[in-house]
Amino acid sequence: MEASVRDEFFVKFKERLLYEGLCEVGFSRIDETVPPDLSRYHYAVTLMYRLSDAIVEEIDGAPTYAYFQHYRAANALLDRCALIACEMLRREGAMVYPIAASQSVHDRGDKYTGIYQHKSAAVAAGLGWIGKSALFVSHQYGSRVRLATVLTDLPLPSDAVPMESRCGNCTKCVEACPSGAVLGVNYVRGMERSEIFDAEKCSQHMKKAYGHIGRGAVCGLCMRACPYGERGSGVTF
Ligand code: SF4
Ligand code: SF4
Repeated sequence: MEASVRDEFFVKFKERLLYEGLCEVGFSRIDETVPPDLSRYHYAVTLMYRLSDAIVEEIDGAPTYAYFQHYRAANALLDRCALIACEMLRREGAMVYPIAASQSVHDRGDKYTGIYQHKSAAVAAGLGWIGKSALFVSHQYGSRVRLATVLTDLPLPSDAVPMESRCGNCTKCVEACPSGAVLGVNYVRGMERSEIFDAEKCSQHMKKAYGHIGRGAVCGLCMRACPYGERGSGVTF
């Protein structure tokens, strides 16, 4: 593709996905983080949806039914946008591999992770950092976002610089977590998730405490506690 035609395509590509309801679309080169069986894909499109402040702010000591439904609706929109992105890239001759917004796979060592971690691509795209909570923290919207990813072999306009953590001395997610899953460690690129977060503790607590709300698959207390993205917190990006 000629450079100007390519630039025009990616402007339209982003516009189309933002029109669908996403708050941000990012591009990254992902050689450092892609698993060997997906190594034909050197690039990733990050799709981001901003959760409703009103619904997030109702979370108080436990998740709510409204939050569970909103979480599922956000994932459904992200998965739909991933298919739209795939089709647009495929028409440009690309191979594409959509990564669902929320799908754990159980045959990759860590049973609480997906086939590819959305936050790895989102950080590489310069859209934010990985918080002490192990959640992705958007530099525009804080922790109140959901993500999906499309891997592709089509070279994307990706010159972003990955962000380092801006959590600093904050411990709000550590204090808010009822399971002890958030270990309170600042994430540095290259760390394993298990060095900052105990996924087993988190999952067991959600199953035990919130089985009646969203089948024990959501909690949200650490996200709710994060001052980044919180209205009136005074924390600026
Ligand atoms: S989702 Fe809930 S249990 Fe899991 S880490 Fe966050 S606050 Fe803790
Ligand atoms: S609550 Fe504080 S420590 Fe936790 S992710 Fe947000 S900024 Fe980082």
